[in-house]
Amino acid sequence: MEKHISILIVDDVPDNLRLLSSMLESRGYSTRKAISSSMALLSIEASPPDLVLLDIQLPGMSGYEVCRYLKQDPRFAEIPVIFLSALNDIGDKVEGFEAGGADFITKPFHIEEVLRRVQHQLSLRRAQLEIHQLNSQLEARVRERTQQLELANSRLLEMAFQDSLTRLPNRALLMEQLQACLDYAQRSPDHQFAILYLDCDRFKVINDSLGHPAGDELLVAITQRIKALLRQDDFLARLGGDEFVILLRDSSDRSAAILVAERILDAFTASFPLRERDVFISFSIGITFGHACYQQPEDLLRDADTAMYHAKSSGKSQYQIFTPAMHETALKRLQIETDLRKAVKNQEFEIYYQPIINLQNGTIAGAEALLRWIHPTHGMISPAQFIPIAEETGLILQLGNWVLWQSCHQLNFWQTQQLVSSDFFVSINLAAAQFAEPNFVQQIDAVIAETQIAPECLKLEITESTILENTEASERVFQNLRDRQIEISIDDFGTGYSSLCYLSLFPINTLKIDQSFLRTVEDNARKRRLLTAIVNIGDTMDMTLVAEGIETPQQLSLVRSLGCQLGQGYLFSAPINVQNMNHFLTNQTRVIKSHLESSV
Ligand code: C2E
Ligand code: MG
Ligand code: MG
Repeated sequence: MEKHISILIVDDVPDNLRLLSSMLESRGYSTRKAISSSMALLSIEASPPDLVLLDIQLPGMSGYEVCRYLKQDPRFAEIPVIFLSALNDIGDKVEGFEAGGADFITKPFHIEEVLRRVQHQLSLRRAQLEIHQLNSQLEARVRERTQQLELANSRLLEMAFQDSLTRLPNRALLMEQLQACLDYAQRSPDHQFAILYLDCDRFKVINDSLGHPAGDELLVAITQRIKALLRQDDFLARLGGDEFVILLRDSSDRSAAILVAERILDAFTASFPLRERDVFISFSIGITFGHACYQQPEDLLRDADTAMYHAKSSGKSQYQIFTPAMHETALKRLQIETDLRKAVKNQEFEIYYQPIINLQNGTIAGAEALLRWIHPTHGMISPAQFIPIAEETGLILQLGNWVLWQSCHQLNFWQTQQLVSSDFFVSINLAAAQFAEPNFVQQIDAVIAETQIAPECLKLEITESTILENTEASERVFQNLRDRQIEISIDDFGTGYSSLCYLSLFPINTLKIDQSFLRTVEDNARKRRLLTAIVNIGDTMDMTLVAEGIETPQQLSLVRSLGCQLGQGYLFSAPINVQNMNHFLTNQTRVIKSHLESSV
């Protein structure tokens, strides 16, 4: 049964050898015999046994020495050694254990004792082997898991620093690189590097028209086109969306960064093939130069972004280099934005009204409602300054709605006080976002129902771009407004896209000729011809014409002679608050008449 277990018996007394061997063989062990230490070592070298029964007193090397020799050799160190000896002194036993022996049997031995001790050592050995095996299995598993974890970690690291769509470095990695550049600049103050902040112009149009997957495809193609323009050492990152940043690590020569910007603008004049179309895309680029004065990577990015914003608002598809003045403007804008949010809450607004005069008979035909912001510290702020910000932030919806309610209430008040005639109208400026609101018509209905004004007395002013930006919504809204007999005026006519096509498509009642056409018109024959052409367009389309910005009697007589039915301007009155308007409505008719008489 135990045949495969081999035991080496070492004893210089042949009788002992025989006795032990036959006894062990009879129990199923296979045995080998050695009568000297050198034979024992040779036998072990040839084939390591599972256990050694070792006599101590041997010719040449003693049993202790043989044991020590085995224990030093890693190949044999684990083989259990049981000493067999007539030496019975406790010191001998101690030496035996110190030499590495596993057990000690005193001669003359009892066969049963030897057997038990052999079995005991063998089972210990087996257990030891099992533990070894389990340990090495465990180690293998730990190794495998460690590898998996390392792989997962490196993937996470990749994800943390890489944009998954374009495989470009992302914002986090860019920030690290910028920090490294700043650290370097602190050590060598003459060092300068450059950051180019790129933002696609009108990328939203691609996403909105061709869908996001097409937008993603285009972003990958854009990435490749930019990459091809850069040197090995330049660093390109995607910040997200359609924003990219290029870091030129050494840009002591400023013209190098400008050259890169120009190359990009130039490369993007060529189209991209996308879903069987040719798509054009351009970039607005902001450049800032990094140096030791910068403290944080965020500041660098902020300034490059500010410059990009300037490039964008100066007409797109161009680059701008950051200047500190840009930062001032940005701060001021931000301040206005913050204040504007508070202003909406604190109701710091007031509506001024500018009378609109009937140029034929001198009556006050209506008034344009013009929003004023009475800032607690800066005083009155012009709508030209805050309306664009309100539009960008979306606050215009709240503001615009307030203007609508307020001015309709005012009209109702004037009507009930009989300060105005029944056909007196209020003209309200609408932002594109208001016009595009799905419930816009319901809001108008609610105002009319609440204030009890006649819908014909409400006029809405929109610009040409509002129509062009919302052609789909426009048709629906126009239809609804026409059903309610609410009139539409085109504000600032002649300054926008002036696509004459929509004038015939939509039910537009009034054209408001932008004040720029009247400015210096007296001594500018070309402007006069332009003004005449606009009036002719209005006449042809059967529209009422309102001349804006009448400041002088000459301008008044010009627009009257051309046949403009209505007019507004400083000559009659600047926009005024309600109190002054009340006064104007009661007292000014005579003054207006005298203006008209002297202008004929
Ligand atoms: P707008 O609708 O073209 O308004 C006419 C602007 O011309 C007003 O500027 C008015 O004060 C000014 N103005 C009137 N008569 C004369 C004149 O004889 N000479 C000159 N040089 N200017 C004259 P304001 O009040 O600063 O408003 C600027 C613009 O802000 C408005 O232009 C309008 O587009 C916008 N706005 C004003 N209130 C609102 C509002 O409640 N909602 C929206 N969405 N926009 C508004
Ligand atoms: Mg207007
Ligand atoms: Mg206008």
